[in-house]
Amino acid sequence: MEIDVLPEVKDFLKQEQLLFIDGEFQKSVNGSMLPVVNPATEQELCDVHAAEQEDVDAAVKAARRSFESEEWASMDARVRAKLMNNLADLLERDIDILAQLDTLNNGKPLSEMYGSDLPNAIEQFRYYAGWTTKWTGQTIPIAGEFFNYTRHEPVGVAGQIIPWNFPLMMACWKIAPAIAVGCTVVLKPAEQTPLSALYLAKLVQEAGFPKGVINIIPGLGKTAGQALIEHEDVDKIAFTGSSKTGQHIMKMAADTFKRLTLELGGKSPNIIMPDADLDKAIPGVFYGIMANKGEICCAGSRVFVPENQYEDIVDKMVEFAETVNIGSGLDEENVIGPLISKQQFNQVASYIEEGMAEGAEKACGGVLDREGYYIQPTVFKNVTEEMQIAKEEIFGPVVVVLPYTSEEEVIQKANNTPYGLAAGIWTENIRSAHKIAHRLKAGTVWVNSYNLTDPATPFGGFKASGFGREMGSYALNNYTEVKSVWINL
Ligand code: NAD
Repeated sequence: MEIDVLPEVKDFLKQEQLLFIDGEFQKSVNGSMLPVVNPATEQELCDVHAAEQEDVDAAVKAARRSFESEEWASMDARVRAKLMNNLADLLERDIDILAQLDTLNNGKPLSEMYGSDLPNAIEQFRYYAGWTTKWTGQTIPIAGEFFNYTRHEPVGVAGQIIPWNFPLMMACWKIAPAIAVGCTVVLKPAEQTPLSALYLAKLVQEAGFPKGVINIIPGLGKTAGQALIEHEDVDKIAFTGSSKTGQHIMKMAADTFKRLTLELGGKSPNIIMPDADLDKAIPGVFYGIMANKGEICCAGSRVFVPENQYEDIVDKMVEFAETVNIGSGLDEENVIGPLISKQQFNQVASYIEEGMAEGAEKACGGVLDREGYYIQPTVFKNVTEEMQIAKEEIFGPVVVVLPYTSEEEVIQKANNTPYGLAAGIWTENIRSAHKIAHRLKAGTVWVNSYNLTDPATPFGGFKASGFGREMGSYALNNYTEVKSVWINL
C-alpha cells in the first residue's frame, strides 16, 4: 500500500520553486522554467526556475563576495562547525519530507532513502563539522637557519555539478567538505531532480549560514552547467556524472586552469569465487546491481562466476530476482522503483534489445508495460566480453554473468574495461580476498559486501571513472590549496 504524501510535501510542491542565490530565493532572470516529473506516474510534479548564464553569474558573484567577506573568511572554525551541525539537525528534523521528495522525484523506494541516502547525507555535515577544527598544516624542519610551515587555504569558489541518481545525498557529499575548509559553493543539481536540493536551500537559510556561502541553482547542463564551467571566477569544478560529460568538462576547465575533480561512470566487476558462501553472495550480488534500480555509478554490472557453477548461480540469481517487488517507491513493499525518465527507460530497453540481438540469452527481466518507467531486474547469460552489454555502462537494472576458470583469468577480465570505479569479491578465503583486491584497478573494493559508503571512507575512480576522492579526509584536499611558508631565522 502506498503511504500518503505528507501535507508539507504537497505544500512545498505548490510553492514557486526559485533559485537560491546570495541567501535569497529568486526568479530566473529570463523566466526560464524546467518541468519536474514523477517517474512512477509520468505526471509533472511542478515546474522550477532554471538558471541561465545571468543567474549563474549572479550566483558566482555572491559566492565570491561571501568567500572574501570578513564574516566567512575569518569565521572561527568552531562557528563553521556549529552551522554545519545546525544544518544536520534540520535535515534530521525534516527527514520524512526529504525522503518523500526524493522518492517522488527520483522513484527510489523510501526504504533506500531511510536505509542509506538520508543517514549518509546527514552524516556528511556532522563528519565534516568535526574536520573544521582539525584540518591543520605541518611544520617542516629545514637544515640551517630555516623552518617551513604549510597552510591549508580554501581553493575559493567551487562550482559543483551533480547527477540525478542520489539527489540529496550527492548534494551533501559535495557541499559538506567544501564549506568545512572555508570554500563557498554554487551547486547545480541535475535538471531531472532539483527538489530535495531546493528544500536543502531552505534549511541552509534557516541554519544561519552567511549569505552567498551556499548557492543552489537548478538548470540544464548545456546552459547552467556550461556557464559554471566556463566562468572565470570559479576556482574549482567538482563534477559527478557521465564519463562523456566529464571529458568535456576536463577540456573546458583547461582554459581557465580550474581545479577539477571528476566522479564518473563505471562497469564494475563483482566476482564470486569458488568458495563463496552463495547464501550471502546471491543477494549481495543482486543488490550490487539492482539497488537504486541499477542507476548507480558503482553498480556491479559484470558478475564473474566459476565456469563449473555457471548454470547453478544464474538459476539462483533468477530465482532471487523473481522474489522482489517492483513498483512505486512510496509503497513499503517495493524494493525496485521506476527508472528516472522516459529517456533513461528507452536507453536501458534498447540495451536489452541489443543484448538479445548480439546473441546473449535473457534469463529473466525486461521492460514492464505499465504506467511509470519500470524495468524488471534483467539477468543476461551466455554473454561474451565483446558484447556491448558487457562493455558499456547501461545504468539500469541489467546484469551480465560471465564465466571464468582461474583466479588469474578473472583478475584480467575484471580489469579489462576503461572504467575503474569499484569491484566486489565474494570469498571465504581472506588471504585471496586481499591478494585479488590489491590487483583490481578500482577505487573501491568490497569484500563480501557491495555498495557500502561512509562519510569517513574515500570514494572515487581509477581510469575513465575519474579522479579525486569524495569523502574522508581525502575530500578536503579537493578544496584546499597548500601554501609553503619559509622563515629565515
Ligand atoms: P550527465 O553527465 O549527463 O549529467 C550530470 C550532470 O552534469 C547534470 O547536472 C547535468 O545537467 C550536467 N551536465 C550535462 N552536460 C553538461 C555540460 N556540458 N556542462 C556542464 N554540466 C553538464 O550524467 P547523468 O546521466 O545525469 O548521470 C549518470 C552518470 O553519472 C552515469 O555515468 C554515472 O555512472 C555517473 N555517476 C557517477 C558517480 C560517481 O561517484 N562516480 C555517482 C553518480 C553518477
